[in-house]
Amino acid sequence: MNSNAVIAIHGGAGTILRASMSASAEADYHAALHAVLSAGQRVLADGGSALDAVSEAVRLLEDCPLFNAGRGAVYTAAGTHELDAAIMDGSTLEAGAICCVTRLRNPILAARRVLERSEHVLFTGAGAEAFAAAQGLEFVEPEYFHTEARHRQWQLARGQDRVVLDHDGATLASASSSSDDDPTPHEPIDPNRKFGTVGAVALDQHGHVAAATSTGGVTNKQVGRVGDTPLIGAGCYADDATCAVSTTGSGEMFMRMVAAYDVAAQMAYRNVSLEEAAHDVVMNRLPKIDGRGGLIAVDARGNVTLPFNTEGMYRGFARIGETPVTAIYR
Ligand code: ASP
Repeated sequence: MNSNAVIAIHGGAGTILRASMSASAEADYHAALHAVLSAGQRVLADGGSALDAVSEAVRLLEDCPLFNAGRGAVYTAAGTHELDAAIMDGSTLEAGAICCVTRLRNPILAARRVLERSEHVLFTGAGAEAFAAAQGLEFVEPEYFHTEARHRQWQLARGQDRVVLDHDGATLASASSSSDDDPTPHEPIDPNRKFGTVGAVALDQHGHVAAATSTGGVTNKQVGRVGDTPLIGAGCYADDATCAVSTTGSGEMFMRMVAAYDVAAQMAYRNVSLEEAAHDVVMNRLPKIDGRGGLIAVDARGNVTLPFNTEGMYRGFARIGETPVTAIYR
């Protein structure tokens, strides 16, 4: 048994909205991350697989409206939601992913079924939902994904006719109003300059790693746009021989850099440590093409690294028997 078992999670990276930071919002994010880590930690402590731990962690992050995945997902240019998710098992190199789904409550569970019960790796749109329906997964009405906060972000981005990552979010956010059930103006990381994807990576007591990533994409994206999240090797990758990786950031750049796989490839071909490989991808390679964001990664020895090139990234990790560690800023 491997006593280094560990789980790490992220809830997106981005620009810190200093003017709107509030202690209670920070506490909400820390509490949410802590609860998810505790659940993942329990799976690992009970001898569960890394695959089970990352599935459960991402399912919980999808259900939490604070993050841009599942409930709380961002809006497309058409005012709809299109969700993407992927999962990979480092012990077998099996993978499953779905993209552009609109009515699946938990995209990560559909990705998991693709991994386990399909000869294919990636399903899109109507085909993905037909597959999920045949698997008995839960469907919801589109309104389920609605939150006031994301809706207002979309309206602000739409007004500028841009995807939200490009515009001055601090100005937009301060121009927006707040209400009790609306966390937007008080989020520690500027919601208009944030990549809110969620993800988890884990090493289990049997020495296996796994990774999972899920997203609503980027606000005001074109209908049919797919980012890095559901692409194996870009937004998600796992191989016991090297590491498990989940990314968040400007998806187009992560796709062009094949970012998640590059961490594993550098470990394999350059024989560098997990930390060195991840650092190179996030701090050197991605910035060359203006790639912003971060990633979380674990290796089969229990090393963990959580690098990001933005001001903040919602993140944390937990080892069996230890108090989970959560963080937002540098
Ligand atoms: N990488 C995601 C995408 O481009 C966005 C994010 O990380 O929030 O769809």
